[in-house]
Amino acid sequence: MTLPQRGRALHKPHFGLRLRWQIGLQWRQLLMLPSVCQVCHAWPSQPLCVSCIERFAQPTLRCPTCALTSHQPSCRNCDQHPSPLDACVAAVSYTFPWSDCIARLKFQADPSVARALAHVMRHAPWVEPALDEANLVVPMPLSATRLRERGFNQALELARQLAPHKTHAHTLLRSGDRAHQVGASREDRLDHVRGAFWIAPERVPAVYGQRVVLVDDVMTTGASLYEAARALRAAGAAHITGLVLARTEAKSNA
Ligand SMILES: [Zn+2]
Ligand SMILES: [Zn+2]
Repeated sequence: MTLPQRGRALHKPHFGLRLRWQIGLQWRQLLMLPSVCQVCHAWPSQPLCVSCIERFAQPTLRCPTCALTSHQPSCRNCDQHPSPLDACVAAVSYTFPWSDCIARLKFQADPSVARALAHVMRHAPWVEPALDEANLVVPMPLSATRLRERGFNQALELARQLAPHKTHAHTLLRSGDRAHQVGASREDRLDHVRGAFWIAPERVPAVYGQRVVLVDDVMTTGASLYEAARALRAAGAAHITGLVLARTEAKSNA
């Protein structure tokens, strides 16, 4: 995606935030500045130090189609709510310290955190093969309203770090947020997102028959990710992998 395309999606009041992100990224890349580990506060370090990654990002057995932790060959969640994804991969559970790191990614526009969290995603099992085999990587979109409020899409920042040459930001589009989803039931979330996603008409040929990786920061009930996958499938995607940094575990699994 080119910068002018991205600029069209943003309002002028947030240009400063976007510019700060880009300048921060460029300067840190140029200077390779050390920083404090966001978790243990070790200095000097990368934004996530090696020992914290080893301690908190150990792979666990997960269902291959909904990414909940599962030690059973069959997944009760997928029995009750069949996944429209062909595969689903989560790097970590949505618990400490990742919940704090994701809050920092969302609300502080810190590019070094995006890079560090993408590193955690990339090294989770099955992620590199999924990215290698993908024809197209699409981030979960924010609504235009949410994008104006926040100034950037954290899922897009992760996707760009993971697969800069395959990521396309304007393939999957989203209508306005009809309700804030925190605390909503799975049924309420399904109602809120039904029909909320579509493929840009000019991008349908780029989706048809292709392997797509759909990237997001957090998967809670899966309602949004599943609805986005249905839109990709309706446009003819041949294979869809959901790739998220963190998975909220079912209460019985937590
Ligand atoms: Zn650390
Ligand atoms: Zn499952």
